[in-house]
Order: sequence, then structure tokens, then C-alpha cells
Amino acid sequence: MSVQESADPSRTVVLPGREQGVELRESGDKGAGVFAVRRFRTGELVLAGAIGAELDRNDAHASQVALDRFVRHEGMMPSVNHSCDPSCGIRLNASGAHDLFARLPITSGEEITFDYAMRNHTVDHFPARCRCGSALCRGRITGWKDLPADRRNAYQGFVAPYLLTEPHAPARPGPA
Ligand SMILES: [Zn+2]
Repeated sequence: MSVQESADPSRTVVLPGREQGVELRESGDKGAGVFAVRRFRTGELVLAGAIGAELDRNDAHASQVALDRFVRHEGMMPSVNHSCDPSCGIRLNASGAHDLFARLPITSGEEITFDYAMRNHTVDHFPARCRCGSALCRGRITGWKDLPADRRNAYQGFVAPYLLTEPHAPARPGPA
């Protein structure tokens, strides 16, 4: 049986109300984004993740949470934009979802971002050009498999653990 994704990846977000310290705002031409409303120290938990739905394949808003498992996070997590020089990194929490931790000091008003290569081995559902605007922008939103070695090193401690194991199972191509 195929669970068909609804075609509209719109950013309608139901806020669970337990997310404190961040809020949803418009982020220029990137659409919605998540922004800090207070300061965060390096290493501090910024946004705790919870799994909202299991997916049978990778897509633009899918989070890879294991070698061959893709989910949709609930709450604000799906609205957190990619950056090639992100303010946050990924750690898996006890529920198997992603938590975002500050990899740099974050000031109030700053956008919360992570590198999608920190969670997904393969990213192939995004437009050709990355719009993160960072000086370190690599031009395209790519997955871990295409991430340069210097960025892999820079992200140590902030990368989903299944990306560090080999071999990587490809996304299942068809209905499960
Ligand atoms: Zn970029």
C-alpha cells in the first residue's frame, strides 16, 4: 500500500506549545523560518523534535532518522531552513527524533538553521540553487554523501549518527 504524500508541502504548522525560545516568522524569499526569541549558548538545546508521521520514502521535507527510515517531524522542525553554515546541529533524542542544538552562540532574533546534510545522506528534492546566503554556501543543498570533508569535520558532534556508518542504504524507491 502506498501512502501518498499530499502534494502540497506548505508550511502549515500546528505548534505544540512546548517549544520555547523560538518562533515561526517569515524569512525573506525562503518563506517561513524559525527564529530565536532569546539567546542560546553553544551546546544548548534549541528545539526538541518529535516524530509526526512515518514516510515510505525521502522527500523535500522528510527527515532521515535511520539508515532506511524517513519521517516528518511535528511542530516547527519542518520549518527550520537549511544553511551551509548553520547555527544548529542535529542529535537523535530518546524517541528517535532529531533535536537541534546550538553549534554556535545564537542571539535573539537570529534564524535557527541546520545543514540538511547533517540528517540526510541524500538530498535530491530541492531546487538547483541554495539560498542560505552564507559566505560558506556550497551552492546547492546537498546530502551528507556530497558534503566536503572540511564541512564534515566542522560538524563533528552535530551529525545524525547513522550518517557515520557505512554502507548507507538507499531510500526505498517504491511503496513499502
Ligand atoms: Zn547554502
